[in-house]
Amino acid sequence: MTRLTRRLSTTLSLEDQLAILAGEISEIVPIDTLNYRHQIGGTDFVFSSGMGGPHRCEYRLNLEGEFYGTLSLKRRQKFTEQELEAIEMMLGAAICPIRNACRFHAIEHAALTDSLTGTPNKRAMDTALQQACRLSDRHGDQYSLILCDLDHFKAINDNYGHIVGDHLLKLAACELEKSVRSSDSVYRFGGEEFAILLPHTGELEARNVADRVREYIGNIAINCGDINVSVTASCGVATHLTGEASDQWLARADEALYRAKDHGRNCTRVFASIS
Ligand code: GH3
Ligand code: MG
Ligand code: MG
Repeated sequence: MTRLTRRLSTTLSLEDQLAILAGEISEIVPIDTLNYRHQIGGTDFVFSSGMGGPHRCEYRLNLEGEFYGTLSLKRRQKFTEQELEAIEMMLGAAICPIRNACRFHAIEHAALTDSLTGTPNKRAMDTALQQACRLSDRHGDQYSLILCDLDHFKAINDNYGHIVGDHLLKLAACELEKSVRSSDSVYRFGGEEFAILLPHTGELEARNVADRVREYIGNIAINCGDINVSVTASCGVATHLTGEASDQWLARADEALYRAKDHGRNCTRVFASIS
């Protein structure tokens, strides 16, 4: 038990703690799987070790009136009373570290999430872009970046108020999520500016995605009395070049966005890698 608490106290990562817990439980009670599920910061955190088994014991983890997730253990043989007692003793020792890890996970999640739209923020985007640069350089895979800026958004705030403006931003974030593949990531990286990172995607395909994104945003309509408020978007696209740093890549997408604005808005421009 002392070893379990000592090992759990070495990390604040919920995933690492659950892996430690799974290992320590199986030293005493043979199990095939440890599953854990919890909603943290509005998103599902799921952990699973190993493959199932027909017999299961499940625990709702509570401490001082707060819920810290559901943990279940599975295996092929029935659990005996003594084994269940041993498991419960171990969970009793693990609950405090798990609570701390849940809190840490929530803080980390909040630091990387935009509070208005629930979309990952600029900080999350910076990390993702740097990782994409490394992967692109190492494996020669194509990564594209779309910057998407809502057109004349200041006028929407001025004419209809900030509440309508905020609502429009939330809807725009939803439409962006809907218009891209699940492997693509959407970020809110400025006030009315979003970014989309597209793995395994070259210039041409990224341009098509940008046009689809603009179409989705163009279809938003907020009913304000006798008028439907809508918005258009301009997009700039750049595909990562080998050896390029993330800030240079971002600057090229920004330059393409500037050209789209300069061309009259509601359009897409690509910073072509071969001109
Ligand atoms: P352009 O087509 O050149 O992009 O024009 P624009 O008006 O969209 O650009 P500008 O940079 O002049 O203004 C951006 C506006 O976005 C002004 C700012 O008040 C608004 N904005 C930024 N963040 C938020 C927000 O969180 N909520 C609301 N309602 N408005 C925001
Ligand atoms: Mg704008
Ligand atoms: Mg802007």
